Amino acid sequence: MIKTIILKNRPEGKPTLNDFETIEHDDDLSIEDGEIVLETLYVSVDPYLRGRMSAAKSYVEPFELNKPIHSGVIAKVLESKHDNFSDGDYVSGMLDWKTKQVSNGKGLQKVDPTKADLSTYLGVLGMTGLTAYCGLTEIGKPKEGETLVVSGAAGAVGSVVGQIGKILGLRVIGIAGTDEKVALLKSKFGFDAGINYKTTENMKQAIAEAAPDGVDVYFDNVGGPISDAVLFNINKFARTVNCGAIAVYNNTDLPKSISVRPFLIKNSASMQGFIVSNFEDKFPEAIKALSGWLADNKLTYSETIVEGFENIPQAFIDLFNGKNKGKMVVKV
Ligand code: NAP
Repeated sequence: MIKTIILKNRPEGKPTLNDFETIEHDDDLSIEDGEIVLETLYVSVDPYLRGRMSAAKSYVEPFELNKPIHSGVIAKVLESKHDNFSDGDYVSGMLDWKTKQVSNGKGLQKVDPTKADLSTYLGVLGMTGLTAYCGLTEIGKPKEGETLVVSGAAGAVGSVVGQIGKILGLRVIGIAGTDEKVALLKSKFGFDAGINYKTTENMKQAIAEAAPDGVDVYFDNVGGPISDAVLFNINKFARTVNCGAIAVYNNTDLPKSISVRPFLIKNSASMQGFIVSNFEDKFPEAIKALSGWLADNKLTYSETIVEGFENIPQAFIDLFNGKNKGKMVVKV
């Protein structure tokens, strides 16, 4: 029996388990030349999938209702009739939320379990690590001695951004949603300071205290009121890297946010959004740097690994409840 998770409803506001359905079925897994049979081992759940669950136009097509959802997956090749893959290889790529599936190999990369834990190819050595490296270096343009603020700091992207900031010689302040996460920012990831946005009444003041020289680079994973508070503290020529806006992904009303323009004008500051795939040509450089820092123990990572294929939807929903530290991954 093969299990597949389909999108049952387009979520209204915060996703719920009713928006997903797990179905069991017998698929024909016989393959032709140029095809492989894959067994899913790890599934990445990511905040951006929320956007694909709505029908709104975006940089990728919406998921179709009653069809399998897909995301980053690590799978094992059970059988191959493809020149580039052998039985027993491990691959990473965008695949369906299915326990087993047939692929033509397009878009799949082999990954080496002897070099790093397989799950890391979805995190620090995968899409979120690439996002952290490319967004920070290409848009943030960090310089030694500057101050970097990171929101969503204890998450997959944020925890790597902060550590790269430290490697590059910046003062790094992280914003996260629990005291435990704030402690982790300092003890595990080497941030200089952390702020719990859920217990801090005056975020504008807390950021000013943590960043006495002002903010030169803001790596924004969350948007919303946290990002408004950072704006009050930006320096002349500050760069804001608009990576994500999880605080507003589930909004059904138009967000009430302050106007950013006066802050940008008076500080000659910039703000730039990006999609990690914009920087595809930088990926080899990024992977080299990230794996080098990992090998030298300059970079570390956290993962929240949820067990069981059926728990993929709950793990996805829990991203919006802040249940993860580092990368949220499901082990099938
Ligand atoms: P993540 O940070 O590992 O997980 C999401 C975290 O967001 C949660 O753990 C939670 O932590 C925080 N959060 C949830 N609701 C929030 C709210 N209302 N306000 C503030 N924080 C909230 O996820 P990730 O994969 O690393 O992604 C981080 C951001 O980057 C997301 O916005 C994502 O869409 C974006 N992203 C963009 C690209 C790109 O190409 N531009 C690529 C990857 C990811 P707390 O406990 O701290 O609240």
